[in-house]
Amino acid sequence: MTFPIKKFLSYYKPYKGIFLTVLGCALFVSCLQLVFPLLVRYITNDVLESDLATALTDVYWIGGIMLLLIVVQNIGNYFVDYKGHEIGARMESDMRSELFSHLQTLSFRFYDKEKTGQLMSRVTNDLLMLSELYHHAPEDYTRYLVRFIGAFVILFMINAPLTLAVFCFLPVLGVLSLFFNRMLNRAMTRNKERIADVNAQVEDSLAGIRVVKSFANEKLEVEKFNRENDRFLFSRKHTYRAEAYFYNSAEAFVQLITVTIVIFGSASILNQTFDLADLITFLLYIGFLIEPIQKLTHMSMQFQEGVTGFQRFMAIMNVKPDIENRSDAIPLSNVQGAIEFREVAFRYGDHLDDVFTDLSLTIVPGEYVAIVGPSGAGKTTLSSLIPRFYDVTAGSVSIDGHDVRDIELHSLRSAIGIVQQDVYLFAGSVMDNIRYGLPGASDDEVMDAAKKANAHSFIERLPHGYHSEIGQRGVRLSGGQKQRLSIARVFLKNPPILILDEATSSLDNESESIVKRSLDNLARGRTTLVIAHRLSTIRNAERIVVLTEEGLTEQGTHDALLSHNGAYASLYAHHFEYQV
Ligand code: ADP
Ligand code: MG
Repeated sequence: MTFPIKKFLSYYKPYKGIFLTVLGCALFVSCLQLVFPLLVRYITNDVLESDLATALTDVYWIGGIMLLLIVVQNIGNYFVDYKGHEIGARMESDMRSELFSHLQTLSFRFYDKEKTGQLMSRVTNDLLMLSELYHHAPEDYTRYLVRFIGAFVILFMINAPLTLAVFCFLPVLGVLSLFFNRMLNRAMTRNKERIADVNAQVEDSLAGIRVVKSFANEKLEVEKFNRENDRFLFSRKHTYRAEAYFYNSAEAFVQLITVTIVIFGSASILNQTFDLADLITFLLYIGFLIEPIQKLTHMSMQFQEGVTGFQRFMAIMNVKPDIENRSDAIPLSNVQGAIEFREVAFRYGDHLDDVFTDLSLTIVPGEYVAIVGPSGAGKTTLSSLIPRFYDVTAGSVSIDGHDVRDIELHSLRSAIGIVQQDVYLFAGSVMDNIRYGLPGASDDEVMDAAKKANAHSFIERLPHGYHSEIGQRGVRLSGGQKQRLSIARVFLKNPPILILDEATSSLDNESESIVKRSLDNLARGRTTLVIAHRLSTIRNAERIVVLTEEGLTEQGTHDALLSHNGAYASLYAHHFEYQV
């Protein structure tokens, strides 16, 4: 993937003014830093050679100027560090928010493929790296280049041969620095992977602690953990070795260059081609030559990471949502609730098997239709085509005669309520969770929905009633209670079309009967598609549709289907009997 430089730079736009100020400030401070050794040189060279009285006044004056320089430099550096980081953080925050908004628009097809863990890492790590790159790169390049070039020119003017001699060391330092940096970087990347493995191991093991204990496999878990822990330790050793090489090689170079300067300088002083002030100046400027080499090689690594991070960021940003509003999409209003599947074919991916090849089904407004069939036949898939979680491969699904692909998405999904087997409750209070069905609903409306869902009385008995927190440190609810909250949510939403996908499957008999009553309340007056494997839920259905791997094979009332003695009768004999 080529690097989208324009897009990359576009994130600077909102901060252009302050960013340029920071850059200018970095430039200014670097120039001031270059002046410092020159002042020392001036004292040692000129001032000390004049008569005592003038020399002393000059020394005080220069001392004063140096103090002023220190203050100005520090204020400048403070500004560059503080504001520079802030700009980076702001750009990162903009990108994170853009990425998150984009993730919200992507459809199920995307989430079927991507792992949430990887997405999280993208949202956090990659962007963190980018923010460093965004502000450090321009600032540091400015700072170090100015210092390097400035020091080189000044030294060259003082003593060209010695400057060139010192300069000869620098490429070697550069190459070494680059080499150790790469080594360090690789070690650090491995470190990150290893610690992620350790964390994953802890998470997995603790999440499954009930299983661990029931199999008395604590020892096995400790062994698995220790394996990862050791691998992490091993990778840390590599990192420290690389770090030691890196820092000490630089140190050695500083010393080597110092020795070179001292020896050549002293020899030149003896030959009277050099003086003490020159020697001191050289020693003071060494850092200006060496530090940039180290920093810039280090940054080239950061740069690479940042570039990869940005490419990964763009890889997600470039994913087009495959379910979108058409430009001429129509809002769905006054929904009657007629649903029609016409010659629908569907498969989840190009390389996956067809789930449906030619499925047609018509549901009239207000009808209560049950879909039964073996697991894997496509019942959930069928229901997810109505709210357009996926688009059909061929044929069409329509509501009140409008192809769902022509309907404005928000109005389409507002018209459909879904109750599934797995209930997802968000962090927050019980009140917040029910209100999720209709953000903006009043407390009374929320309570009214809870009453209709048979949830009010158990909510009242919670420690803080409707304000009890759900989540890790909040209340623990039973499966049936959670399900009633999710039903209350749908009551509040009040959609004309309802999909119940095995909503009572994981509940025990007692919870099931109370949830069943809530669901019956909910279904009243709405077109309802119920997917169930309990006979109690479907027995009274106006129509039962049997979906098998061959498609829709039978439909009719319970009694009619039984007497027909086909797929339903056989399902009934094998699956439903014991649940009656
Ligand atoms: P049911 O609800 O009747 O048990 P599903 O509709 O869940 O069946 O699944 C129908 C078929 O589609 C199964 O073969 C299943 O493995 C497959 N399937 C379901 N969801 C996905 C998905 N997100 N990606 C790929 N295949 C899927
Ligand atoms: Mg299913």
